[in-house]
Amino acid sequence: MKVAKNQTELQTELHQLQGQTIGFVPTMGFLHEGHLSLIRKSKQECKATVVSIFVNPLQFNDQSDLETYPRNINGDLGLLQAEGVDVVFLPSADDMYPFDQPFLKLQMPQLTHQLCGKYRPGHFDGMMFVVLKLFHIVQPNKAYFGKKDYQQLAIIKRMVFELSVPVEVIGVELIRETDGLAMSSRNARLSETGRQQATMIYRALKLVKKSFDEGKSNIQELTEIAKDVIETEPLNKVEYIEFVNKDTLEPVPVADNHTLVAAAIYTESVRLIDNLELGERV
Ligand code: AMP
Repeated sequence: MKVAKNQTELQTELHQLQGQTIGFVPTMGFLHEGHLSLIRKSKQECKATVVSIFVNPLQFNDQSDLETYPRNINGDLGLLQAEGVDVVFLPSADDMYPFDQPFLKLQMPQLTHQLCGKYRPGHFDGMMFVVLKLFHIVQPNKAYFGKKDYQQLAIIKRMVFELSVPVEVIGVELIRETDGLAMSSRNARLSETGRQQATMIYRALKLVKKSFDEGKSNIQELTEIAKDVIETEPLNKVEYIEFVNKDTLEPVPVADNHTLVAAAIYTESVRLIDNLELGERV
């Protein structure tokens, strides 16, 4: 496995892979089974797999979230080596952004006025900036993104479509802990009690789905069901529970088989997200 610490080193490594289909998995590190599932899919589908680890300052609207974001480069490199990754790209912020603030701004109001976009102003602008930049640097054939970050995946697919970026974007299923909590690097910041109370998020989404399967489709009623379950635990605070069309991400007046229920919760001071497609089997 080759490790490239800047764009110049990466170009040398990519030169060696010329002619091979390249699968790319962008991450912010502190890797877990969710990330590894993307890497395994890339390994199945592509001849070579490139993984980036870069905690992108442009997408953090909250400075303390950036500072406390968990990092463990040596542990990550061990996991990537074991998976048989070909190249790891570990750029510094100076290498990626040799300027104070970018002059260029990417925005997608239609897909960011709702869900996380509403509560994290600028987050998806910074995310698009880094993903498009990484696509230009790595020039992969395919790129893999988790459905845990459902809105992110939708935005990237639309960006690639509108700008004719020559990359196939592939969505990968959300991976959960055995007790149902969506895997996330941020879970490591929870206390033991917080970690237990966070399991209520998935329980709430499952109860929403069960209620929907039993005939309930009123959004207000379904929202209350979810909120009650999550906030029975004192460390949990709901930021949003939203019901949107799973393709357009527009809020829906009543739930149907094309509805996605998505939630963002603060457990202690840690922001956690999760989602469930109501038309899918769980
Ligand atoms: P991050 O390091 O949080 O930026 O995530 C990097 C990639 O891994 C993104 O495409 C995420 O959607 C994906 N990912 C993170 N957690 C999970 C999970 N639990 N299941 C599936 N994909 C995930």
